[in-house]
Amino acid sequence: MALEFNVLNTTEAGGRRGRIHLPHRTVETPVFMPVGTLGTVKAVAQDVLENLGAEIILGNTYHLYLRPGHEAIRRMGGLHRFISWPRAMLTDSGGFQVFSLSALRKVTDEGVRFRSHLDGSSHFFTPEHSMDVQIALGADICMAFDECTEYPADRTRAEESLRLTLAWARRSLDHFRAHSHEVPWHEELGGKTQSLFGIVQGGMYRDLRRESVERLVEMDFDGYAIGGLSVGEPRDLTLEMIAEVLPLLPADKPRYVMGVGYPDEIEKYARMGVDMMDCVLPTRAARHGLLFTSEGRLNIKGKKYAEDQGPPDPACSCMVCQRYSRAYLRHLMHSGEALSATLNSIHNLAYYLGIMEHVRKSLHSDGGDS
Ligand SMILES: [Zn+2]
Repeated sequence: MALEFNVLNTTEAGGRRGRIHLPHRTVETPVFMPVGTLGTVKAVAQDVLENLGAEIILGNTYHLYLRPGHEAIRRMGGLHRFISWPRAMLTDSGGFQVFSLSALRKVTDEGVRFRSHLDGSSHFFTPEHSMDVQIALGADICMAFDECTEYPADRTRAEESLRLTLAWARRSLDHFRAHSHEVPWHEELGGKTQSLFGIVQGGMYRDLRRESVERLVEMDFDGYAIGGLSVGEPRDLTLEMIAEVLPLLPADKPRYVMGVGYPDEIEKYARMGVDMMDCVLPTRAARHGLLFTSEGRLNIKGKKYAEDQGPPDPACSCMVCQRYSRAYLRHLMHSGEALSATLNSIHNLAYYLGIMEHVRKSLHSDGGDS
């Protein structure tokens, strides 16, 4: 049994308040998913993530495959047990990192040969192999192996890339369905299985995006992601592609936009009907001293905060804003203290998760019949 998705309320603008029932957690949507690249949301411990209200986090297949290795994680009972995270997880397909991080890639119809960014060792990823790795990791949601089309890509290139992604989607799905019972917690959780999402590609071409949706929906995935965005294109083009694709996706399946975005963007996309989003921005920006607040962006390194006794964000009720001053956070950053990344990340995640909580409340009260 894969996921079950209930739409509780839909607004006129298309925004949906929903609930995804997954093997390890029922997730309230729209949801923001903190990114836990290497089995950790950088600088933030799992109990803190729970206290912040994170219901689902990401793991990166490429990184975990290289280190510590998916077979080691399988032997330890899967990623949930290995990192001690009892709630829901999603793994990406590894494709994005293979294309963005690794050296000497060679793409064929069969798969991608690449060299590890860690030690230069040679590896071959196919859709089938990506599924095997993701099944060993055992996240609640897996992603089909795709090629993330770069930006800019001319039409011929985008067409060829889409052809590859569609062929790989079919192979991913067939292999996933045949092996879904091999997930480490299959028996422990009463025969439940992971879910697999297809990824819409097509570059910045509306008709290719439409074709991508049509073909993926025929294959009948458990949910659908819009990929190939936030790859350097202007923001209005990101919005245009999302607006084009969303109404074409089946209303009864979760919709996930990968790798977005800034606070105003995640709110906007959620109100348009995106159910799931993930982004490294809140944690990555935090490590560079950039805080997202109700008053806008705040660079904590600024000299003007040297003796500022106020909280990072006066409107925020997170554990950092309740306890620490801007002056202290600035001092930690300037001194290169490890706690700096931790406290900044906790606030930024609280801010992102808070936006989604606010959107969920307003979607529930905006019209509809529930
Ligand atoms: Zn805060």
